[in-house]
Amino acid sequence: MQNIYDYSLIELTNYFIKNNEKSYRAKQVYNWLYQQKVNSFFMMQNLKKEIIEKLETDFTMKNIKIIDKQQDNYVKKYLFKLFDDNYIEAVLLEQNYGLSLCVSTQVGCNMGCLFCQSAVTKKIRDLSVYEMVQQILVIEEKENIRISHVVVMGIGEPFDNYDNVMKFLNIINDPNGLAIGARHITVSTCGLVPRIYDFIEDGGQVNLAISLHAPNDKIRNQLVPINQAYPLNELMKSIREYIRKTNRRVTFEYVMLKEINDQTEHAEELSKLLKGLNCYVNLIPYNPTENNLYQSTNKEQILKFYDIMKKNKINITIRRELGKEIMAGCGQLRAKQEEE
Ligand code: SAH
Repeated sequence: MQNIYDYSLIELTNYFIKNNEKSYRAKQVYNWLYQQKVNSFFMMQNLKKEIIEKLETDFTMKNIKIIDKQQDNYVKKYLFKLFDDNYIEAVLLEQNYGLSLCVSTQVGCNMGCLFCQSAVTKKIRDLSVYEMVQQILVIEEKENIRISHVVVMGIGEPFDNYDNVMKFLNIINDPNGLAIGARHITVSTCGLVPRIYDFIEDGGQVNLAISLHAPNDKIRNQLVPINQAYPLNELMKSIREYIRKTNRRVTFEYVMLKEINDQTEHAEELSKLLKGLNCYVNLIPYNPTENNLYQSTNKEQILKFYDIMKKNKINITIRRELGKEIMAGCGQLRAKQEEE
């Protein structure tokens, strides 16, 4: 049976038309699901009994379950158990502009970035649309909050689950759905170049972030193995095309790894690579993982790197270090659960 939260408004509209019902029924159902946020078809009071019964037979509304929560002052981290006993995480961040949720897109990840906890386990499967939508809905219900921003930066590579992720974005952005503004949504990819070209067509006003992490192919081949398939010149070409066609600014994430990518020469090389692009760089303090392969760059060196980039007129910010104590780094809670 299909989960109702898998359906875009268009799909639900087609469903009603196919069943000889008025197409506006889809909007009514969407209103119950995403504005009233009811948990049962029987609460959808403006629907005829026959329609409710038909929905009951064709769809489930079952929610994924929160089984663990950790928190500090700014960060709440949730562990979800899926119906096939897999685990995923979502992280809620209190920002000065609102509440931002970091959602997962896959169980595990195949991209193999060694500094990332999620790479330790290979991808088990893609998340379905409802499993992404419900990370938002279930947390909103549990905490009695309204999430205003979504970052698709949890476990998994969103562009390796492209169709489901695009449908998920469509549902949460839909004015009849969760109505989260596209400019309040960011998708982060390690650089699957063909999907970046797709995203130029499909992404609308949704923000794009690229996990760059290196100023040249030699270093990036090591840190982000997908670079061996799509090297920097191809990646940068797709990004220039993205900026040209969408007129939108791109974010480059750059995790600071001691003596690997954090030296003066790396900052100079990175400046050259990004010169003249409509972009900004987000320096990310490394959140150490179990494998101990890398160490964090100290504050002083991060600031030095930052200053060089500034001097070279590249827009740059340093990400606040949040949630270290509660293992809020990508995939860390899930890894702990799998161990137990
Ligand atoms: N696969 C996507 C999205 C998930 S990772 C991507 O690569 O963009 C989200 C961000 O967190 C990426 O920039 C990733 O490189 C970074 N990241 C992963 N592990 C980290 C760690 N241990 N410390 C700091 N940042 C990390």
